[in-house]
Formats: sequence, C-alpha cells, structure tokens
Amino acid sequence: MTEYQSVTGPSDLPDFLTALLSLLGEDGVIVPGQDAPPLGAYLNDWRGRYQGRALAIARPRDVAEVAAVTRLCADHNVAIVPQGGNTGLVGASTPDDSGQQLLVSLTRLNRIVAVDAANLSITVQAGCLLAQVQQAAKDAGLLFPLSLASEGTCTIGGNLASNAGGTQVLRYGTARELCLGLEVVTPQGEVWNGLTALRKDNSGYDLRDLFIGSEGTLGIITAATLRLFPEPAGQVAALVDCPSLDAAVALLHRARARLDAGLTGFEVMQAWTVALVHKHLPDHAKAMAPLMSGDAPAWTVLIDTASPDSDASARAALETLLTQALDAGEALDASLAQSHGQRRAMWALREAIPSAERLEGLMVKHDIAVPTSAVPTFVRAAQSQLEQAFAGCRVACFGHLGDGNLHYNVQGPSSMDAHEFLARHETQVNHLVYDVALSLGGTISAEHGIGLLKRDELVQRKTPVAMQMMRAIKQALDPQDLMNPGRLLATPSGHTPG
Ligand SMILES: Cc1cc2nc3c(=O)[nH]c(=O)nc-3n(C[C@H](O)[C@H](O)[C@H](O)COP(=O)(O)OP(=O)(O)OC[C@H]3O[C@@H](n4cnc5c(N)ncnc54)[C@H](O)[C@@H]3O)c2cc1C
Repeated sequence: MTEYQSVTGPSDLPDFLTALLSLLGEDGVIVPGQDAPPLGAYLNDWRGRYQGRALAIARPRDVAEVAAVTRLCADHNVAIVPQGGNTGLVGASTPDDSGQQLLVSLTRLNRIVAVDAANLSITVQAGCLLAQVQQAAKDAGLLFPLSLASEGTCTIGGNLASNAGGTQVLRYGTARELCLGLEVVTPQGEVWNGLTALRKDNSGYDLRDLFIGSEGTLGIITAATLRLFPEPAGQVAALVDCPSLDAAVALLHRARARLDAGLTGFEVMQAWTVALVHKHLPDHAKAMAPLMSGDAPAWTVLIDTASPDSDASARAALETLLTQALDAGEALDASLAQSHGQRRAMWALREAIPSAERLEGLMVKHDIAVPTSAVPTFVRAAQSQLEQAFAGCRVACFGHLGDGNLHYNVQGPSSMDAHEFLARHETQVNHLVYDVALSLGGTISAEHGIGLLKRDELVQRKTPVAMQMMRAIKQALDPQDLMNPGRLLATPSGHTPG
C-alpha cells in the first residue's frame, strides 16, 4: 500500500479539505493518513491491477450533499472519481496515483425510495446494492431481473454508469433497457431530476441514455427509476454437455424458437473454466457433482427458463427441448434441476468462474461480442492465431452465449509467470483478439465498459466521427474535465491516470 501524508486534524488540512469536512462532517470524509482505516477496498480495483491514491474519500448521504461536494470540486478544480461497489473490471472506479483526485463513494445513498407495483417500477438511490433492489422487488411480489455475480457488492449507480449486462439480458435487456429515469448531479453541481416512470417520452434528446454507460465521466447518478416485471411462477434450469460450440449455437437457435420469451438465460462454459472452479472453489463444484457427467465436456451450456404458470410447465417445455437436442446431436447429455436449490447451484457454478480465474492468476481479459451465429468462427480463429503467436497459451472462455458475448481470457503457458506474460504480451494479445472480433462485426466491450483498460484501444476501433462526437459531448457537459478524467476518453492534455 502507498504511504499517505499524515493529517492530524482540520487545522492541518488545506482549504479544500476543510470545506469538505464542514460540508459532510467527520463521518462523511476519510482523509488518508496514519489514523485512517485500511482503504484498499476503495483504492484498489477488484482484479488487483490498479492501485490508486486519493486526496480524500467523500461519503455523502444524499443528493444535496453530492451536489455540494461537486460544486466545491468545481470551485477548487478538483477531479472526482465516482464509485459504487468498486467491482468494475476496466480500471474506471479507482483514483489515479496522483493523490489529487477526490473519490466520491455513493454507498451511503442506499435507500429504496418507492415501489409502484401498479406501474411496475421502483425508485432507488444510486448506492443501493443490486441485491437490495432485487429483494425489494421480490418483497413486492415482482422481479428486478438484472443479475450479476457481483450483485451482493455492486450498486445500481455503478450498474447504470457501466450499463451492466449479466445473465438475463437475453430476456430482459441490459441495465439501459431496465432504466426509466435518472437523477444526476452535473459536473457543475446542478441536480437534473429525470426520475420519470414513463415508458414513452419523446421530448427531446434522451439525456438518460447519455448518462447510462458513461462510466462516471459526465455526472454522478444519484437515483434511478427502474422497470419491474411480474415474477415468473415457474423457473427451471438445465446443464447441457455439448460436443462443440457449433452444437451449442444450434441449441441456442432451437431454444429461442421453442421457448421464446420463456428462455431467460443461455450461458456457456468451456472445459477449462469449469476445471478452474473445481481447482479453486471445490465447494461450488461439489454441490454440482451429482448433476455433472463424469468426463468434462468441451462445452457446458446452462439454460435457464421461466414460465408464467408453474415450475411444471417450465420443466415440460425444457424437457421437450432437451429431448430434441439429444436426438439432433446438439447435446451429449443433459441434467435438469430438480429443485430451486439445484437451479441455484447451477448458477453458482457459472458465477464462480470469475473468482476461480482470479485465484488462478492474472489473465489478459476480454469481454467481446459478435453476432451469435459468428461465435464459433470467432473462437476457432482467435484460438488458432493465439496458438501460432504464443504456443501453449491457455484460454478461459465463458459467458453469455445468448447475447453473443464471451469473456475470452488468455493466460500464458503454464511454464511462464502470469504477470510476466501480461506485461510482455497484453497489447499484442488484445490486438489479435479484437481484430478477430471486429472482422466478424463485433465489439471490444459488450458489457464491462472502456475505463482505462481499453481506452486507447477504443480510439483505434471507433471511427473518427464517433470519437469526435463523444469528445464534443464530454466537452459540453464537463468543460473542466473533472469527472473521472482520463477514463473512457483521454484527457485533452493526454495525461494518463497512473
Ligand atoms: C465477480 C464479478 C462478476 C461480474 N459480472 C458482470 C456481468 O456479468 N456483467 C457485467 O456487466 N458486469 C459484470 N461485472 C462488472 C461489475 O460488477 C459491473 O460493471 C457493475 O455494474 C459495477 O458496479 P459497481 O457499483 O461496483 O461500480 P464501480 O465499480 O464502483 O464503478 C463502475 C463505473 O461506474 C462509475 N460509477 C459508479 N457509481 C456511479 C454513480 N453513482 N454515478 C456515476 N458513475 C458511477 C465509476 O466511476 C466507474 O466508472 C462483474 C464483476 C465481478 C467482480
């Protein structure tokens, strides 16, 4: 951990910190120093790639305090890094190493404001945990379908700022599609109340969509009105062994046609990713043992289905699908969850993969998407080019096949230290993987965003016109470049956050 200057009390603080303390009170500000609690959870990113320093950590309690802090920052020209649960994976939620940026943590804005069951909507403050929002919907007999492995830690503000995807996009869409309205504090400290619960509103530019996915670079989201759905009466999942990725895609097409809106999730896990869970998180694997066939298949698919009627009707539809898939050779074996506990265990296996990967060591990570029909071609081409360039390298591939979105993560040969492989070859691996994805009409980021990790790649992959429009929007809304500078877009001076 970096050493911080020791600050003994307000009289030693510069003007800015004194003003900040008077706005938020002692419990609303953490100033790094000898007496500060351990700050790694705020300053280091989840993957352990970025270690920052902060001028201070501001913990406002409501929108008025967020606005006051933002005005203070504008007056003193202090850059802000908004932060929710700090589970982001692209180096956008932690400060740089200058020690001059203010980290604004939204986690104390954690109130469920209102549930409107008749309008199928919920209004929440931005620092609510995703799991908390899901539970509030459930308590009202409804469903908030956004679902990520990090849902016990990530916040709704972070989900919206990064336009999170997750496991139910196939049926319900990304965070963007689940959001009806926003409340945002602008870089100048003004409050834009756009907390509408309308399904249709064509009155001018869509400001809501501008802030969703903007990674904290245009303003601070302080509250949101979100879309809810009726809770399905029946939910059943199955694990399916597929002989190849082509077979898995054929199964996807069959599932779409047969189950239609009843198909809520279609995930794929390549053999090595399941082996990593066995190796590092054996409890997850043990819970699955009765449901997994003996030999690890090349590809395991997790199909999740829902029915407005009952578990029995969801099960009947899934059984018919699986019988057809077995007959067609798209599946070698299939296990249907016999209880909600078994369904949860299947998902736990899938959701354990990022943590198992982390325990295996650093990887060059990608979050690409291509049209679903092009997924097998992508995997074949990327694999063969990687093999040629880095003999013996290993690929952990899993993800949301139903959305054409793969987490395609590359580690060097087992004989080579993971840090060394990353340090020496990350750029080349990225170029290779992104070239293949883009040649198939794909994208370099399906759901994790750009941050610092992919910022320089973005410039090379977007058209000059697209970059020009993005810079114009940033300049118009944040002329002082105080909101998460250097993330997503380079700073005008070209300074790269450390
Ligand atoms: C185990 C694991 C699994 C994951 N699975 C998925 C997945 O399936 N799909 C997916 O899309 N992502 C996934 N992620 C990534 C991550 O959890 C999501 O991006 C999540 O939405 C980030 O939320 P957060 O509250 O942690 O945001 P943070 O990490 O704190 O911040 C993320 C970005 O949003 C900005 N930000 C945060 N709060 C605000 C706010 N209130 N206003 C303005 N800007 C803000 C930050 O500045 C930063 O740019 C996963 C991460 C982990 C660790």
